[in-house]
Amino acid sequence: MYHFFFDNYFSYQESRIKKRRFDESTWQELIDRWAESPHLQIRTVGETYEKRPIHEVRFGEGPIQIIAWSQMHGDEATATMALCDIFNFINSNNPEFNKIREILHQNLSISIIPYLNADGAARWTRETALGIDMNRDALHQYSQEAKLLSAWADEIQPQFAFNLHDQNRLYSVGNSAHQTHIAFLATAGDETGTWTESRLRAGKLANRLTRFIEEIIPNKVAKWSDEYNARAFGDTFQKRGYGLLLVESGGSGWDLEKQSLRQLTAAILLDSFYCIATNEYVNENLDAYQALATNERQLFDIKLKQAPLEASGQIRADIGINLKETGSNKTDITYSWTIEEIGDLTYMHALNELDASNWHYTQPVFLGEEINDLIYEKAGETIFDLRTFTAKIK
Ligand SMILES: [Zn+2]
Repeated sequence: MYHFFFDNYFSYQESRIKKRRFDESTWQELIDRWAESPHLQIRTVGETYEKRPIHEVRFGEGPIQIIAWSQMHGDEATATMALCDIFNFINSNNPEFNKIREILHQNLSISIIPYLNADGAARWTRETALGIDMNRDALHQYSQEAKLLSAWADEIQPQFAFNLHDQNRLYSVGNSAHQTHIAFLATAGDETGTWTESRLRAGKLANRLTRFIEEIIPNKVAKWSDEYNARAFGDTFQKRGYGLLLVESGGSGWDLEKQSLRQLTAAILLDSFYCIATNEYVNENLDAYQALATNERQLFDIKLKQAPLEASGQIRADIGINLKETGSNKTDITYSWTIEEIGDLTYMHALNELDASNWHYTQPVFLGEEINDLIYEKAGETIFDLRTFTAKIK
């Protein structure tokens, strides 16, 4: 069913959300709208440190309990957009969707917190208002948001849990030039990485999803390393037997608003729900999942090979340039370029790799510097102008 959910995506996409960062009033509007739905139940399960309400959206009356949460890191909103799409799917009048909704409704009880770290989301920061990384707070639960998540899951005792994140755009699939679009991890629940019943459920799901997604984006799917981290919620919930699958949206070329990853993620979640409801996942093995390369940090946005570092052109080195994202105002994301690394970058890859070995020097570059302009010339003509890349940022 993955392809069905993927191919029909635009008939259930939530049109009120068009980019990753949206303001609180838009979110409240959506919550109010979902509250009117005969299929969804909305309840406030707590509040953040700054007293923003934390909402839960529930669907279904079946025996299999599923939980999902997104944006425990405030600036990771791709899956939140996908969840909005899924709520639209559930509310749709499309007769084909209705049949699927009925199957989900009868077999599953799905509880979702789609905007967990609302304080971080308002600031567009990973951490909570008090600066705590919630996903390193599963053990002591210093933050009230982590306390809430832990108690919420324990009350539900789910068979499946979806931990939804965004990862840095510049992770690669192993040491390759392939940018990781989607990454999975059937987290380990102990130091030795035992394939418990809980981990196996998540692994089988990941295997199925990998098979389907690889057909759409070949070589762009990775897995995270499964080193156990007791402070992370994924690992903690696996230990508790909650069938936890981590799903990460990475990068997708110049689609900086990640709308293509939103579509993949909406289909990932709907297909997961469907195959859990129909028990189809049980026959999966782990081959496709285990064959995935792990995420590595081997990419730059731009790599200039053997660029001149001074006027004589005698001293040359590779230059790695990355985009840096910053939240500004209440709903904007601004981008700037940073000189990330200078030197021998032979073993690094880039989304845009250029041979600068016969370019002429025009200006100095400094490590760590934020730049707007960078120009190189060849035979008196401009051959590289950073602004042509800036123009691709929408
Ligand atoms: Zn995250």
